[in-house]
Amino acid sequence: MSRTGRAVVYDAPNAPFEVREYPVRDARAGEVLVRITMSTICRSDIHSYEGHRPNPCPGILGHEIIGVIEQIGAGIDKDLRGDTLAVGDRVTWTEYFADGPSYYRDVHDMPHKAPGLRKYGHDLVEEDPHFLGGFADYCYILPGTGILKLPAELSDEEATPLNCGVATMISATEAADIRMGETVVVQGLGLLGMYGCAIARARGAARVIGLDAVPSRLELAKRFGADLVLDVTTMSEDALVETVRKASPPDGPDVVIEVCGNPSVVAVGVRMLRVGGR
Ligand SMILES: [Zn+2]
Repeated sequence: MSRTGRAVVYDAPNAPFEVREYPVRDARAGEVLVRITMSTICRSDIHSYEGHRPNPCPGILGHEIIGVIEQIGAGIDKDLRGDTLAVGDRVTWTEYFADGPSYYRDVHDMPHKAPGLRKYGHDLVEEDPHFLGGFADYCYILPGTGILKLPAELSDEEATPLNCGVATMISATEAADIRMGETVVVQGLGLLGMYGCAIARARGAARVIGLDAVPSRLELAKRFGADLVLDVTTMSEDALVETVRKASPPDGPDVVIEVCGNPSVVAVGVRMLRVGGR
């Protein structure tokens, strides 16, 4: 039976989105066909759409995607944890995929640097299998992708950002090696900053300080684990460094994480840190 699915396509940066139909074929060996239930608009989707970063066109944006397995190709039966995969399972999957052996992935634990790496939401829509982005009815999960079955207690809204926003901050907080009792400063309280506050707490930070210029974000950050929030527009750089250091006894924060996307604040963050801070 031949069928089609809809995809929201853009032909070039800033061009209007169009809904187009493409053929949906059976999943081949090593592939999983998913019916998409939710996709976010990640900030990087906006950067792609506005032409600030290269992205193949015409294409389908969206890489924070979850969906329900519609069909499983030959050779796939388990997810990354070893749980059995079945039609009807709700899954998330890695944003990028690279098939075959990879020196960087296998030896250096840098899967994101594997040669031939491709990303969902960053591929041409005109070529088979067409559906490789979130703004569509379907997505093919291709060989070399890590798939994870989602637990029922996570809502779609909670689960959808796991493979990009949450994964980014899990990685950043691991790299920062946050330990029990430490003080962590988060510069920028967008989605990444909110996760940064919550994950720092979960990793044992005794104190989390959030910095931003938007009052509603400062309020929200308190619900994500920030003890102290500071509006950076209300004080000079010197006063900000002084205030943060005073709130982080005995000699400044152990960790500063920058997720506001403004490189100039990195130097300010370094000024706040205690000796040997990360
Ligand atoms: Zn993203």
